Amino acid sequence: MTIYRNFIGGEWIESASPKTIENINPANTGDRLGTIKLSTRDEAGKAVEAAYNAFKDWKNTPAPTRGKIVARAARLLEDNKEELAQILTREEGKTLAESRGELSRSINVAEFCAGEARRLNGETIQSELPANFAYTIKEPHGVVALITPWNFPVAIPVWKIAPALVAGNTIVFKPAESTPATAVRIVEIFEEAGLPKGVLNMILGAGAEVGDEIANHPAVKAISFTGSTATGLKLYQQVAGRGVKVQCEMGGKNPVVVMEDCDMDLAIESTAQGAFGSTGQRCTATSRAVVIDKIADEFVQKIVERAKRMRIGDGSNSETEMGPIVDEKQFRNVLKYIDIGREDGAEMLCGGKRAEGDGLENGYFVEPTVFDKVTPDMRIAQEEIFGPVLSVIRVKDFDEAMIAANDSQYGLTSSIFTSDPNLIFRFVQEIETGMTHINSPTTGGEAHIPFGGVKLTGIGAREQGSTALDFYTEMKVVYVDYTGRKREGNLY
Ligand code: ADP
Repeated sequence: MTIYRNFIGGEWIESASPKTIENINPANTGDRLGTIKLSTRDEAGKAVEAAYNAFKDWKNTPAPTRGKIVARAARLLEDNKEELAQILTREEGKTLAESRGELSRSINVAEFCAGEARRLNGETIQSELPANFAYTIKEPHGVVALITPWNFPVAIPVWKIAPALVAGNTIVFKPAESTPATAVRIVEIFEEAGLPKGVLNMILGAGAEVGDEIANHPAVKAISFTGSTATGLKLYQQVAGRGVKVQCEMGGKNPVVVMEDCDMDLAIESTAQGAFGSTGQRCTATSRAVVIDKIADEFVQKIVERAKRMRIGDGSNSETEMGPIVDEKQFRNVLKYIDIGREDGAEMLCGGKRAEGDGLENGYFVEPTVFDKVTPDMRIAQEEIFGPVLSVIRVKDFDEAMIAANDSQYGLTSSIFTSDPNLIFRFVQEIETGMTHINSPTTGGEAHIPFGGVKLTGIGAREQGSTALDFYTEMKVVYVDYTGRKREGNLY
């Protein structure tokens, strides 16, 4: 049985901790991939020290050279795409098609960031004084901590590691407890790509122990976190006193607004894809459908039919459309929210329980669930469930739809289904989300386009795209006076 090891200072080191957890295939709990040792705080501190010691040389390595290593990692991800996709499906449960998609996104991100290494430019600025000018330089912070969740265990680490490296930072990477196998492979790929020792370190363990240790370590100058809002906000508050740079990508409660002039079949397929794709475990998943009264009966009838047709099963089976929930804790949490929806008086039209059938006995499968007549004050309309549960909120008109859609503490993504261009632009103007989609699912994004949310979803600079390096760099402003004599007059 594999025992996953930490990567510290360029060495693969098994943790001395006696605490372990098993890495289990959520589609078949009898299938064990390996054992995770929950590292100690002391070991986490060693990972930070290794990153700290490697920083000066890495910072002084020309950015295009750093980029070449990231480009090599992109090629290695491509060469190992199928193997990684298989591990991802076995470890996290998503379908193989979804895993391959995640790998493609990761490769694209790494390629994009490698290119950015040749554009790590500043600006030159004219001075008010003769024979003077100023320019800006982008510099790395130092050691950055990257704390990631289990739902995109390849793409999210890659979209943090690649820009952090290109910018010249050294890294302590702390993956989610439940997805160590993909994390190890990613680090192996960056190692094989030629990273010097200590530039990328990985520590496996519990968030409350090693995550807490690295986040609160004085040598860590920036933290990029993706995960739950509760943990992100706690982290943000904890480290504020140190003036550390923080980027948090947290929860979502993403709405689709369905207008009476929409293409109904498109709206249904897109909503189903957004709500049940990746088993509803994307931060961009559709969890609320805000539907105009006049067409609500038709919408509800069709989305329920579609939900009932979802082929549930092991993600490694090519027929499967929806895999299991990632682990027992999440599985119980999703079932708990289904109970809450019922108790709060929403009408459950399908699903609502563990999925049963051939081959489903040993996995964490939940039936796609649709609640109708949900009101915005209900907990299932407000709280992130992270499972295949859709809440339909019926509204009178567009204005009421916007009030319902924006009635959320979260603001990651959204979409509208309509053929009216005026409504589309009013929607874009009024919707309170960091990203929005027109006549397409709330999910999906591209490597060269910024990603992130507003309100309690996002803190700090956007990830990916033209803004990918913003979080990982500091700006230095340089004033140059080449008169060779004392300055005359004052600059204010
Ligand atoms: P999820 O519900 O997706 O597991 P979490 O926010 O709990 O979301 O976890 C996201 C990441 O944050 C994981 O890598 C987890 O181990 C880590 N984490 C959890 N608690 C803490 C903490 N107190 N400090 C730092 N990292 C943490």
